[in-house]
Amino acid sequence: PFDVLVLGAGPAGDAAAIYAARKGLRTGLVAERFGGQVMDTAGIENFISVPETDGPKLSAALEAHVRQYDVQIIASQLAAKLIPAAETGGLHQIVLESGAVLRSKTVIIATGARWRHLGVPGEDEYRTKGVAYCPHCDGPFYKGRPVVVTGGGNSGVEAAIDLAGIVSHVTLLQRGAHLKADKVLQDRLLSLPNVTVLTNALTTKIEGDGKEVTGLTYSDGDGGLHQIKTDGVFVQIGLLPNTEWLKGTLKLSPYGEIVIDDHCGTSVPGVFAAGDATTVPYKQIVIAMGEGAKASLSAFDYLIRLPVA
Ligand code: FAD
Repeated sequence: PFDVLVLGAGPAGDAAAIYAARKGLRTGLVAERFGGQVMDTAGIENFISVPETDGPKLSAALEAHVRQYDVQIIASQLAAKLIPAAETGGLHQIVLESGAVLRSKTVIIATGARWRHLGVPGEDEYRTKGVAYCPHCDGPFYKGRPVVVTGGGNSGVEAAIDLAGIVSHVTLLQRGAHLKADKVLQDRLLSLPNVTVLTNALTTKIEGDGKEVTGLTYSDGDGGLHQIKTDGVFVQIGLLPNTEWLKGTLKLSPYGEIVIDDHCGTSVPGVFAAGDATTVPYKQIVIAMGEGAKASLSAFDYLIRLPVA
């Protein structure tokens, strides 16, 4: 059995595996793909101390760093089920989608998240070429240019407020008749001079010139179609944690995030979680890495407190 079994090889999982291996613990890493969401990223300019990199480069660096250590990599596999130890200090079991069962004294869940997609023509084609999901990451790329934000919940309205300080103009599209964000955020948004809010506006298509986004089409409540010229579309209709397989085993938030304490502990002793799959505020690479390190140190702390066999 493993001392530490890490699930997911994004920034959080890779950091956790490295920290565990450096403690001399028997470490396993279920790595469906190294890098996680980072692999889907074009330019990265907020990975502190590296002014500019890109997804494939950072992912390759993450993999190379993990491979410098004695980490058993279980490649191309997804975890399908967690069976917690019957008593504290016992072995947890992870059932993989292949049916194989792995056993470990501690588990670190770092299965990340995925952005909910609009599912309209042009969205996949222009992803990272004008279609963006993260204002903290990609906002500065649109400095002085017009953008559209889709989604009138808290994340959409926060994104619009954030972007309004950087870009020339923000058009916020909300599918329903009303914004759903908190009142204070709505008030802040409506006070800004370079923001237009359109309600009953359903995005139907993202347009481009073959290279980059050039505009967006939406339908109004009466079925009329309208076009907006824009350089960027920020899709803000939800971040879905990859935790469906944990329902009923661990405490999850109403959004499906794994509820963690300030040591990355979950509701099950010996099971820790890190990164975008958890309730940690703000989903970013540097944050996920820090959380992975923290989860691993917490697993170590847990292991040294187990009764001597
Ligand atoms: P993830 O990166 O999501 O990795 C989780 C891994 O676990 C994935 O490989 C996944 O396939 C795997 N997995 C899923 N389910 C299972 C399972 N059941 N069993 C085993 N493995 C599983 N952040 C920044 O800081 N700067 C940026 O510029 C930036 N740009 C971004 C651009 C895009 C397009 C996207 C999508 C995100 C961007 N982010 C950026 C956010 C950043 O990528 C995430 O915050 C970060 O990758 C989270 O790391 P993580 O390890 O928690 O999860």
